[in-house]
Amino acid sequence: MLNSSSTQIYDMAVIGGGINGCGIARDAVGRGLKVLLAEQGDLAQGTSSASTKLIHGGLRYLEYYEFRLVREALSEREVLLKNAPHIIWPLRFVLPNNKAVRPAWLVRLGLFLYDHIGGRKLLPATQTFKLHNNPKLGDPIKEGFEVAFEYSDCWVDDARLVVLNALDAAKRGADIRIQTRCTQAKRSNGIWQITLENQETKQNETIQARILVNATGPWIDHLLHEVNTLPKDKHNVRLVRGSHVIVPKLYEHDRAYFFQNTDGRIMFAIPYEQDFTLLGTTDADHQGSLERVEITEQETQYLCDSASLYFKKPIERSSVVWTYAGVRPLYDDGANQAQAATREYVLRVEDQAGQAPLLNIFGGKITTYRRLAEDALSKLQPWMPTASGEWTKEAALPGGEFELDELALLTAKLQTDYPFINQAWAQSLMRRYGKRAWDLLGDAKSLDDLGQTFGATLTEREAQFLQETEWADSADAILWRRSKLGLHMTPEQREAFAAWFN
Ligand SMILES: Cc1cc2nc3c(=O)[nH]c(=O)nc-3n(C[C@H](O)[C@H](O)[C@H](O)COP(=O)(O)OP(=O)(O)OC[C@H]3O[C@@H](n4cnc5c(N)ncnc54)[C@H](O)[C@@H]3O)c2cc1C
Repeated sequence: MLNSSSTQIYDMAVIGGGINGCGIARDAVGRGLKVLLAEQGDLAQGTSSASTKLIHGGLRYLEYYEFRLVREALSEREVLLKNAPHIIWPLRFVLPNNKAVRPAWLVRLGLFLYDHIGGRKLLPATQTFKLHNNPKLGDPIKEGFEVAFEYSDCWVDDARLVVLNALDAAKRGADIRIQTRCTQAKRSNGIWQITLENQETKQNETIQARILVNATGPWIDHLLHEVNTLPKDKHNVRLVRGSHVIVPKLYEHDRAYFFQNTDGRIMFAIPYEQDFTLLGTTDADHQGSLERVEITEQETQYLCDSASLYFKKPIERSSVVWTYAGVRPLYDDGANQAQAATREYVLRVEDQAGQAPLLNIFGGKITTYRRLAEDALSKLQPWMPTASGEWTKEAALPGGEFELDELALLTAKLQTDYPFINQAWAQSLMRRYGKRAWDLLGDAKSLDDLGQTFGATLTEREAQFLQETEWADSADAILWRRSKLGLHMTPEQREAFAAWFN
């Protein structure tokens, strides 16, 4: 499909380059459709880079009886783990039971269900133990928590999952456009006429498509207002902000902690980027702008205080080195508390006399994006009779074409092939690129061949690779979304990199 041809008709135009838009675009192009995806800024710049980064069933949703969601998410964990073993890995969670919040039998029951309803095969089962009989896991935690449970979920680099879906979609022929905002869409003779505004040149282009997918996450109502299918005063989504803080690592082992807060919420402390611990998250109705979503002072304090109820060493506000916040685009089911609003996704198709459907996507989790894409395409089946069937369950994402237990071997091979990079560097390249690490390093024979270095192993070669193959069009895209190297660099190094980039 040629870019910017207004005479050709796309089968599907997807608006929004978060996990749901990229997942749907990839699935649809793999079924033989001509697909265009338009993202107003950078891929994953919205909620999909601001999650807690867990591929999880969501233990706490059991309390809200969301059994269908939990089952689907649990069974998806191992599918995704197999398809992207470079950017997803198993993570064990230690849950010190807090008798004052929930009785141990209730947590045990929840974890029994969690272990059994999702068809777990690869991940180890729950274990119960006396916290302080296990010095490694018990030492960082205050006295007074007797019983602890250890259960399984997975970790994901959320922003990279988005980009790998876009990359695979593009390889299969999808037209992926960043910095491209949909400003209008109208039906004309059963075809969508969609206006796309290039955010850099401010030029408009009209493209045509048979199906329009609104995968704009928190912006879903904005787009519906723009396409005039929702009155300006009506809203379908509940915007619930969740924030995280990052502090220097609080303990040495590789497990995460699951804490039950005294207000009934839960929070995680997760090993992050080797040197840090990630603490999150919060649930607060979001009223402000969607362009810059930021943690509030109150949320920062809440996260530090809640974690300090468990860790022996109090977490000071001043130890926070980085924060991020995102908005959950939850389907508004009228729940009183933000934390109780459903995490289920809702797909709604509107059409006009059987023609030109608009599919709206409400809610969803990173974990269930692949299933959401399958459901979306099955809902659209009547309008795409030539499309082939489901295919993504067994299809590796770019760079992830290897077995879970081969990662260490591949890392060692990378280091043998490029002896001038050390083990930690090889590991982080494998975690970002999997088998694509060889494409990145190419014919390099020495460090000098990688060009200028900017700190924290970021080289000119890697930055160019990201520009050329992953749509990275700003320093921030590279430092915070395509990688998290920004966290390991000093402010001066980040500035020098931005100056080079511009
Ligand atoms: C704090 C927090 C923690 C979470 N933790 C987890 C977790 O651990 N595990 C999990 O599975 N899920 C988690 N989630 C949920 C998950 O992150 C979201 O459900 C998911 O990222 C939503 O993706 P999306 O594609 O729908 O939206 P987004 O990622 O926001 O993508 C929408 C995109 O549309 C673009 N856009 C908007 N309007 C236009 C337009 N007019 N033209 C072109 N582009 C447009 C935006 O720029 C944006 O990039 C969490 C969410 C939050 C907020």
